[in-house]
Amino acid sequence: MNNLLNTELDYQDLVSKYGSPLLVLDKATVRHQYRSLRDALPGVTLHYALKPLPQDAVIDVLEEEGACFDLASNGEVDIMREHGINPAKCIHTHPIKKPSDISYALDYGCRVFVADNVCELEKLAEFKDQVKVLIRVSFPNPETKVDLSKKFGALPEEVLPLLEKARDLGIEIYGLSFHVGSQVKTAKRHVEAVTACADIIREAAAKGIAINVLDIGGGFPVDYDNAGETDIREFCKPIVAALANVPEGVRIIAEPGRFISAPCMIGICSVTGKSMRFGKPWYYLDDGVYCSYSGQIFDHVVYPKYTQKTGAIACSVLAGPTCDSIDIIAEDIPLPELEVGDLVIGKMMGAYTIATATNFNFIPQAKIVEIDLEREALSINFPMVA
Ligand SMILES: *Cc1c(COP(=O)(O)O)cnc(C)c1O
Repeated sequence: MNNLLNTELDYQDLVSKYGSPLLVLDKATVRHQYRSLRDALPGVTLHYALKPLPQDAVIDVLEEEGACFDLASNGEVDIMREHGINPAKCIHTHPIKKPSDISYALDYGCRVFVADNVCELEKLAEFKDQVKVLIRVSFPNPETKVDLSKKFGALPEEVLPLLEKARDLGIEIYGLSFHVGSQVKTAKRHVEAVTACADIIREAAAKGIAINVLDIGGGFPVDYDNAGETDIREFCKPIVAALANVPEGVRIIAEPGRFISAPCMIGICSVTGKSMRFGKPWYYLDDGVYCSYSGQIFDHVVYPKYTQKTGAIACSVLAGPTCDSIDIIAEDIPLPELEVGDLVIGKMMGAYTIATATNFNFIPQAKIVEIDLEREALSINFPMVA
């Protein structure tokens, strides 16, 4: 099946039709990634985390595939509502909310919420007849650059008292959740977290508290170095083995974001100017770290970059369009000599890219063009932020 992991596009043709800079979003790649993860985690319900790429095309494909969703803000509730997604397929996973955020999601019909402290449980207790709670457990992970347990999650030993508190407040207990950090190198921390949660579930049962759901979060990695396909089945094998030890009757769900969205977009931008600085060729582009390449700052990812030029290679610099000197997307990158108008391609640019883009310097964001490499439909869409 064609997708962006195995197909080269006619970049020049896309730019002549739609201009530069562009982000090309392929729906077939979204479908491919969703199906690969679903097959690698049999029996696990996948809730796509909207955060990395809340683009309509992604939601449409996943809705068609029967996916569920993970949202975290009122804006993301609005997106689900606009797409007519059944709220029973949604969970709200922000551990810290205003009471008005809780009622906003409830008004839509989403009833599952996350808490990791007593203050949050007391907020949820105001809505106790409608809400179900997942208690988020913290499993810090120094091996990942995006350690989501630094900010959220109760320590494993704090979980039983929180479950008892929730019960005493009259809140329906749904289950436990965790997020071991994004783009993890191995499944080691997932396995440790599943094992620790299985123990907590048994201890809770001994105290008369039933856990229905274990949410194993996100973190599933993609191969940025080679812009290639991850062997996700191999990655998930130890997780699947660990899940066999979770007490029977506990339903398993996950919240993948990056794995589904990262490979589905490529960035195309063009050289707008060039210069020699301190003996090195510098190329100035119409996209940079304040826009599509923002993930190089916030998400600590370096996207693989290519040109289709050939010729003698020199160690070069690729700089973005703003007047700020942090706006450099590659230093010491081996490149042939480029001319104004030549294209620079970035791969694996779906997750945490345009989602964190700014309008700094009033420079327009990349246009998003949607394609479907399986179905050959081509349509155009404009950036999420006007
Ligand atoms: C960001 C986030 C996700 C998605 O994580 P990935 O590493 O992109 O898969 C899932 N759940 C929660 C609560 C998050 O904050």
